[in-house]
Amino acid sequence: MPSTLDDFAVISTIGSGSYGTCRKIRRKKDGKVLAWKEMDYGSMTETEKQMLVSEVNLLRELRHSNIVRYYDRIIDRSNTTIYIIMEYCDRGDLASLISRCRRDEVYMEEDFVWKILVQITQALQECHRRKNGKAVLHRDLKPANIFLDSDENVKLGDFGLARVLHHETSFAKTYVGTPYYMSPELVNNMSYNEKSDIWSMGCILYELCALRPPFTASNQHELNKKIRVGDFARIPNKYTDGLNNVVAKIIRVEVHKRPTIDEVLNEPLVMKKRTSLGLDFNQRDE
Ligand code: ATP
Ligand code: MG
Ligand code: MG
Repeated sequence: MPSTLDDFAVISTIGSGSYGTCRKIRRKKDGKVLAWKEMDYGSMTETEKQMLVSEVNLLRELRHSNIVRYYDRIIDRSNTTIYIIMEYCDRGDLASLISRCRRDEVYMEEDFVWKILVQITQALQECHRRKNGKAVLHRDLKPANIFLDSDENVKLGDFGLARVLHHETSFAKTYVGTPYYMSPELVNNMSYNEKSDIWSMGCILYELCALRPPFTASNQHELNKKIRVGDFARIPNKYTDGLNNVVAKIIRVEVHKRPTIDEVLNEPLVMKKRTSLGLDFNQRDE
């Protein structure tokens, strides 16, 4: 039996973004706490509705311990709102962790950075794995969208669903907030692809070490210039050359020189850390 709105009760509102509102909910039959995202369905064109629903269907197939689980979607009777039901994460995200470290003026431990690096890489590998010829692109990778659980394991969430609806070139225009993690090809109005996720991931890993993104500026024009050139300072000297080199290899302006997710995972040092940190077991849950 498919779920209906009556199967859930709203507990509280988590927050609203540019494309909808997230609420904490309870599934009545077993009391399980979940979250849903409400998006304005009524104002979408038929094509957009189809694209959104098929993207959510792809997200529902992603079952991995480092990815927020997407369970279901419900469209209300009047066809005005779509509710996307997902796992609830309440242990914070990388953005708040980074700002706490910045406030307290402490750098993260190197092995903690490796743990996050390996887990984000594993999550993206699962997304980029082509199922029936279709990869899932995250499209909105930034520290605020990477959640943590009680053991400080990563959960990749808040996929850029609304971006699926906008055609390629409008990405820059639909971006709200300062796009520190936007790749050079998107700055140049080219289409979003797997490598754009990889770039954003590199910027996030850099920020975990340096406590600021690799490219910053006080206005969009200056930021775009810096991203296109792609120069950034070494991560703090506290960190090893090995970590610095892996991060620097990911933030490559030229798309064809930027590694794929499999290439990142096959880096000898990444493989070594994956084993030594005990992260090399099967992360896919059926
Ligand atoms: P934008 O999408 O415009 O970048 P946003 O991500 O803050 O902004 P929403 O996507 O609507 O806006 O999310 C609202 C809030 O819900 C955010 O604080 C987000 O971190 C939180 N949130 C998203 N997914 C989950 C989840 N699975 N569990 C708990 N909180 C979540
Ligand atoms: Mg978010
Ligand atoms: Mg969001």
